Amino acid sequence: QKELLQTLKGKENVTLSGQKIKLYANIGNIADLAAVLQNDAGGIGLFRSEFLYLEKDTFPTEEEQFSVYRQVAETMAGKPVIIRTLDIGADKQADYFHLEPEENPAMGYRAIRICLTRKDIFKTQLRAIYRASSYGSIAVMYPMITSVQEVKEIKEVAEEVKAELDADHIPYKNIEQGIMVETPAAAVLSDLLAEEVDFFSIGTNDLTQYTLAIDRQNTNLDKFYDPHSPAVLRLIELIVKNAHQAGIWVGICGELGADMTLTKQFLQMGVDELSVAAGCILPIRKIIRETK
Ligand code: PEP
Ligand code: MG
Repeated sequence: QKELLQTLKGKENVTLSGQKIKLYANIGNIADLAAVLQNDAGGIGLFRSEFLYLEKDTFPTEEEQFSVYRQVAETMAGKPVIIRTLDIGADKQADYFHLEPEENPAMGYRAIRICLTRKDIFKTQLRAIYRASSYGSIAVMYPMITSVQEVKEIKEVAEEVKAELDADHIPYKNIEQGIMVETPAAAVLSDLLAEEVDFFSIGTNDLTQYTLAIDRQNTNLDKFYDPHSPAVLRLIELIVKNAHQAGIWVGICGELGADMTLTKQFLQMGVDELSVAAGCILPIRKIIRETK
């Protein structure tokens, strides 16, 4: 079985009827890159940037972040690298943020909510990402979006960052900006959000948590945490439809993307990209190539 999978390296992710889909990898650290290359990922569909913040006892500098993003972009040698901006808060805490304890951290002060109230932190990260964009094929995506207004505000911050780079004569590319669709609000508003961004990436872990009102961390609720719920699958279908109607691409980067019992269904919906743990790439490629 393992040898068989090895023969799939370098092969396309194409069904028997010719439908193609992109297979990218999720990473949470530089150390994950080896597996990404080994398993022939087409790119990085979700680079969780939190580790940069969690492994330190003070804010990572622009220079530190730039050097990591650049290294990832260069290692991927022109293949897409989608960097997700800071998704700290809730379960992922760093003391130096001085976040107050919360009753409902999953529904609390986290991710883009921190970035839009602490624009200094946000701008430092965006500046590092834009600077690194000259060294490969980088895109940026924003987590925990719930409104069109948030996206407009984010795009203004990105414009400010670009203007500052221009003023400093620092080169950058006009990279794609996308959002994670991982709240029911974003799913329901996906027709309007699709007009504002270049792509969607569906975060099924949080989308399941918020749609079913089930804390994804609470192991007592495992039997109720069901990403196969028709409520979740209907939202995914709606998001894909709205993305395509607006002419943007849409991927899935939550754990459900690697669920091989759903690969065929995702293909039928027309999902453009699946971003999964590196070890799942070749097994999913096999399934895709066996699908009619
Ligand atoms: C998700 O919510 O599905 C996701 C990919 O993001 P995270 O698991 O980091 O919250
Ligand atoms: Mg999430």
